[in-house]
Amino acid sequence: MEPVRILVVEDEVIVARTIANQLNQLGYTVIGTASSGQVAITKALEGKPELVLMDVILKGEMDGITAASQIREQLDIPVIFLTAYGDDNTVQRAKTTQPFGYIIKPFTPKDLRIAIEIGLLKHQLEQDLRENRDRLATLLNSMSDAVIATNEQGIVTFINPAAESLTGWKQADALGKDISRILQLVDEVTETSVENPVTRVLREQQVVYLNDFTSLITKNGSRVPIGDSASPIMRHPGQINGVVVVFWDLSERRQTQLLEQALLKEQEVNQLKSLFISTVSHEFRNPLSVIQSSVELIELQGENLTTDKRNTYLNRISSAVQSMKQLMEDVLFMGKSDAGKLECHAHPLNLKEFCRELLAEFTMIHPTSAEIIFSCESDRTDAFMDEQLLRYIFTNLLNNAIKYSPNGGNVLFQLTCDLIHQLAIFCVQDQGIGIPEADQARIFESFYRASNVQSIPGTGLGLVIVKKCVEAHQGQISIHSQAGVGSTFTVILPINYSSNAADEA
Ligand code: ATP
Ligand code: MG
Repeated sequence: MEPVRILVVEDEVIVARTIANQLNQLGYTVIGTASSGQVAITKALEGKPELVLMDVILKGEMDGITAASQIREQLDIPVIFLTAYGDDNTVQRAKTTQPFGYIIKPFTPKDLRIAIEIGLLKHQLEQDLRENRDRLATLLNSMSDAVIATNEQGIVTFINPAAESLTGWKQADALGKDISRILQLVDEVTETSVENPVTRVLREQQVVYLNDFTSLITKNGSRVPIGDSASPIMRHPGQINGVVVVFWDLSERRQTQLLEQALLKEQEVNQLKSLFISTVSHEFRNPLSVIQSSVELIELQGENLTTDKRNTYLNRISSAVQSMKQLMEDVLFMGKSDAGKLECHAHPLNLKEFCRELLAEFTMIHPTSAEIIFSCESDRTDAFMDEQLLRYIFTNLLNNAIKYSPNGGNVLFQLTCDLIHQLAIFCVQDQGIGIPEADQARIFESFYRASNVQSIPGTGLGLVIVKKCVEAHQGQISIHSQAGVGSTFTVILPINYSSNAADEA
């Protein structure tokens, strides 16, 4: 290592020479000696020493303290004072020049060496500290995230340019203010103010994060959606000396999120539309091909066609037309309800009578081996409901109960009128194949069919329509089912449906 280069400022020539000799013997390089303040400044600027030994009292107009402060203004080097007195006044004046040490005369070469080495070390440490501070300041100032630091009372001690522009508070105004004035937060969903993260960190003594949908209220009152984290500053474990809050503008991200959501929704709607079209066309193709093949067979057999066969083909055609008609009706019904045109036109009716008539009609049109047993314990079953919608609901539920009970078994159709709560409770219970648990949550979706019904024909629209009719009545539908055991559909409707109640809901 190169020997340290030192300038000696001492107006006593002999003393100066003695010090220079001692320094040389100690292994330092003396770049020169100066006997006045002015000469010291000139020699320091020219010779660029790494350290100056400065006598406090110098002959001439300028004393050592003034010379030292002028050297320090221009060069970043340590100055060590040599003094014969340690009086308070001299020490106080010397202090203002941020000295790196004092050597009281007379001194030994050992004193000299210790003072020089401590001075050099102190200077090096100060330089490192300054560099670190500069580096940190540059980093914080060029950061795109906003940073605010506070002391342990929540008073702002630092704010970077990004935080200035996000909050609208200039550094000069923000420093010294309580953080709650600079960082005002509001919950976008509840519109209530959010507890300041600094207060939370000081209380909880740990890092805290903001909830989603938090906005900052800037100095001019506008709102910016932000995300943030706030961390305690701890110099010693368990003792908080302050808090640093890092936050960032989420406006753009929020916009992108909203756009993405809208796009996803549109994609879903488009997918649903395509699925709807392809399923409906597929469902039409089956009965159409039945009709086509039956017509071809009638034509092909011409006069050889027996009456029996002719009736079989005509029956096939008729049931194909019937299923196409049903599908058409379902699709039209769906369209109507999707367009929000499904209205509940309630009229007075007796539910017990209605159920009996519906069952009689149903069993006539759908002859089945299963027996449908109707029961009603209630005496008063007068209601105010839409008969057509009720017909849709129970025809579909009974249809399913029969269709999904290939091995027969009883179907129970039960009605109870709860006059206290003014509710009519209908249950349709079968002993059929049941619905696997994994499918139960989805059977009210359009075209959804459970995994155990492959061999049983169906479109997956019946329950969608049922649910819409129930909702049009301000009612509820629920299922209880177990695969292989059976299913119970429970429909609860207000006995006296009023359109006003629906409007208010
Ligand atoms: P369609 O539109 O002709 O009624 P679908 O009967 O398949 O066809 P939904 O009535 O909506 O359609 O029923 C949806 C699915 O729910 C059925 O495919 C079936 O998997 C299941 N499901 C409905 N009711 C029952 C029931 N009683 N027992 C077992 N599974 C049922
Ligand atoms: Mg069905």
